[in-house]
Amino acid sequence: MKFSKNTKICKIDDISLDYAKNLILNNELVAFPTETVYGLGAIATSDDAVLKIFNAKGRPQDNPLIVHVHSDYDVSTLVYEDKDYIKKLKDAFLPGPLTMVYKSKGKVSKLVSCGLDTVAIRVPSSKSAQAFLKAVNVPVAAPSANVSKHTSPVTAEHVFNDLNGKLELILDGGKCSGGIESTVIDVTGNEPVILRSGLVTYDMIKSVVGKCRYSKNTSTEKVKSPGVKYSHYLPKCETALFKRNEVEKAISLYNNAVETGKTPYFMADDGMCEFLKGYNLLKLGKTGEEIASNLYYKLLEGEKIADLIIAFDVVTGTDIDVGIMNRLEKACKRC
Ligand code: AMP
Ligand code: MG
Repeated sequence: MKFSKNTKICKIDDISLDYAKNLILNNELVAFPTETVYGLGAIATSDDAVLKIFNAKGRPQDNPLIVHVHSDYDVSTLVYEDKDYIKKLKDAFLPGPLTMVYKSKGKVSKLVSCGLDTVAIRVPSSKSAQAFLKAVNVPVAAPSANVSKHTSPVTAEHVFNDLNGKLELILDGGKCSGGIESTVIDVTGNEPVILRSGLVTYDMIKSVVGKCRYSKNTSTEKVKSPGVKYSHYLPKCETALFKRNEVEKAISLYNNAVETGKTPYFMADDGMCEFLKGYNLLKLGKTGEEIASNLYYKLLEGEKIADLIIAFDVVTGTDIDVGIMNRLEKACKRC
């Protein structure tokens, strides 16, 4: 596949949405903002278009994509919504950062689900995502708009830096507020099963449905969510991840880096950063929501200025920590 032209970045308005619609209906790629991260979208019913996503990202062919639809889209045309608790989940959390994996009716390209008989559907809540999805009015397959394995993008510039020339258009809706990807749950069984943690947490799902569990790390359950086995979210600099009680070890690594002519940065929540005053710092914020929202942003800003990012475990005491730590453990090398 040849990519040559420069990718356009456009603010979202009637003209850019009309352009985006034409591109999507002609099997081209368009990146768009959601409340979590930027997605790399293609019409989900076309093999040709969906294949372009895998090629542009260098994404492994067995890592399935999430299908995005607007809030008035009739999801029952695509999937079987045959469990009672599905309506409760939809009423409580949609539109929003919750992706549900259903039994598929086979209406989207087989490439979307990489051979699984299920399909993951998401209804994003951000105004920009809704405007885009309503303009195109077709199901849009979209993974995060980054080169495979790299940190997920939360600004249009991040998308451009990774994928310039590999797609036609980036719709610019500013910085994404959520900052980490949607929670993915399997809704094909008798209880919702969390395949990937995110901003809709275990406690939130359990309080609505009454039951919920995390996917087990068994081989049977792992095949249900192929994406979790791949390395992810890696910034383009060295990294190290420490427990909060390993500050001395972390400072010694920082000092060694300085001595060898490298530029290290600590990345931590505001409390930890207060303690590390005087060192180069990437501050993540205080609350779980703030930290999730800043995590990829700080990793991507960090990779521009640091040779080494030294991160600390995040402990806010809320169950958003599960989603944050899931990303941080993959992005940074545990020491
Ligand atoms: P990404 O879009 O790169 O953030 O990743 C999409 C996530 O959704 C990955 O973890 C996939 O494994 C998961 N996913 C997508 N479709 C399915 C599906 N049909 N069954 C299970 N997991 C899925
Ligand atoms: Mg991704």
